[in-house]
Amino acid sequence: MPSYFLDENKTNGVHEVHAKDCRLLPDRFSRLYLGEYPNSRLALKKAALFRADVEVCRNCDDRKLDLPHSLVVRCAS
Ligand SMILES: [Zn+2]
Repeated sequence: MPSYFLDENKTNGVHEVHAKDCRLLPDRFSRLYLGEYPNSRLALKKAALFRADVEVCRNCDDRKLDLPHSLVVRCAS
């Protein structure tokens, strides 16, 4: 399972959740380790325990899982 991280800094007003191999992953001083999850949606649930405004980075979104629209995210790039 991939590891997920929470960006401690806000992007477009939200804290983004990134998979370990995301090209947008912040440096290690600006991210919080969330753990290993089968998909970004579960990592997002964990992230919500730490921050109020969390979303999955668009680059990391699991499109194949057909996520509900409420979890579709904004991304800076
Ligand atoms: Zn990402």
